[in-house]
Amino acid sequence: MNLQPLLEKSARDHSHLCPRQILGVRLGLAGMKALGFESPPDKKQLLVITETDGCFADGLSAATNCSVGHRTLRVEDYGKAAAVFVDVKTGRAVRVAPALDIRQRACAYESDESRHYFAQMEAYKIMPDEEMFTVIEVHLAASIESILSSPGMRITCDMCGEEIMNEREVHQNEMNLCHTCARGGYYHVKQNVISSIGLYPQ
Ligand SMILES: [Zn+2]
Ligand SMILES: [Zn+2]
Repeated sequence: MNLQPLLEKSARDHSHLCPRQILGVRLGLAGMKALGFESPPDKKQLLVITETDGCFADGLSAATNCSVGHRTLRVEDYGKAAAVFVDVKTGRAVRVAPALDIRQRACAYESDESRHYFAQMEAYKIMPDEEMFTVIEVHLAASIESILSSPGMRITCDMCGEEIMNEREVHQNEMNLCHTCARGGYYHVKQNVISSIGLYPQ
């Protein structure tokens, strides 16, 4: 596999190339290979769930053609450079993670390079998959159907009135609620009543 075009694609979207992008590209290729894909399958057959965002995720995108915009890349932000690859057709899922001693192995590969950053850059391009990654079969905690959901669906939250897409509503007390109204969200509102004009500082 010629990595160079994928590395260029990743770096172009990102304005630099770094070890994490290379790791993402390699891990993306390894994940596809584990599912039997030589190259990115079409028709959204591949779903990638990355466990971090940032440079690593851009490398994954470059290798797999999966993206948040196409709903083929999901971020479960656990701060880990690992990912699960799902064959949506068969339901098979594998998790690929870097070997625990991948950095030491990389430095051993590029023992002439004393700067770890550059040793990793070079080593991640040439190390064999078996030395870089662990691959395990996994079951997803939620069904693939519920993860993918129906992109055309729309409903209105019975409490806040905002539109909820893709079947992300929560059924509670015979109401259809958005996640925030049902379970609390990731923010707290500072003022209770604000008009749309009041949102902007005077
Ligand atoms: Zn980077
Ligand atoms: Zn709501």
